[in-house]
Amino acid sequence: MNIKEMQEEILRLKKEKDILILAHAYQSQDILEIADYTGDSFGLSLQAQKAPNKNVLMCGVRFMADTVKVLSPEKHVYLANRNAGCPMAQQMTKEDVQMLKEKYPEYAVVAYINTTTELKTVVDNIVTSSSAVHILKNMPEKDILFIPDPNLGSWVAKQCPEKNIKTFQGGCPSHLRITKKDVEKARAQHPEAEILVHPECRKEVTELADYAGSTTGIMKYAQESSAKEFVIGTENSIVQHLQFACPDKKFYPLSIECVCHNMKATTLVDVYNMVSGKDQEEIILDPALMDSARHAIERMIESGK
Ligand code: SF4
Repeated sequence: MNIKEMQEEILRLKKEKDILILAHAYQSQDILEIADYTGDSFGLSLQAQKAPNKNVLMCGVRFMADTVKVLSPEKHVYLANRNAGCPMAQQMTKEDVQMLKEKYPEYAVVAYINTTTELKTVVDNIVTSSSAVHILKNMPEKDILFIPDPNLGSWVAKQCPEKNIKTFQGGCPSHLRITKKDVEKARAQHPEAEILVHPECRKEVTELADYAGSTTGIMKYAQESSAKEFVIGTENSIVQHLQFACPDKKFYPLSIECVCHNMKATTLVDVYNMVSGKDQEEIILDPALMDSARHAIERMIESGK
């Protein structure tokens, strides 16, 4: 079977078996082409909630499939590749948060959505990169512990000077590979280009960029901007997706090192194996855990409006 034949077979099987396919924007082009929805983890969860399908396949990493399951417990949710995890989501545990709360009792704890379901049950609020500033500005607490990404935390802190935001060690190993030198090199090589980065990048990278925002924000900015050239500082698949979306513009990676091997673990063959029933991993979570995490995620959806 070649790629096209496999894609056609996936499309036939997903219709026959009532499977909704969600693909994170960091997935490869052949997977995006057979997905019902593409986007960031938060947007995909909302799409899964709205869709009538009984089965959902997440092409992304584990915390994303868990979030879909928590928001749609009545659906059968599957992760396309069982080994696809997010290293950042493993950097802090529920117990770590409980220790922080004891140490800083006057602080509210805010967690990035890239965390485990267990951790989400003990924090005061959850945010995405696109909703973080809005949510923090609307929180009554001034003192905030932002976990687990210190780079996203410091980017948010800069835009919320009225808050006292404390961050800790950690971060996305893929975005941390982009350095200040990469920005200086890109400015010299592409003087006409705008540099767009994700706030998971190091603080010194974000500060030198023309725009910092979520994956969805970067894609929207590049599509709407009148500029003709862009240097993209996020997972490198976005460079390719933008090139498909805007063939008249030019896109360059800020660093060829910014590749998430966890996101890339999923292949079209994994998707085919799942929809054909050859290899499936259904997400099963404790109902009480899901209820507790759902309250936190729904609070995030409400406060993000
Ligand atoms: S890009 Fe970073 S934050 Fe996103 S899934 Fe990969 S490791 Fe996790």
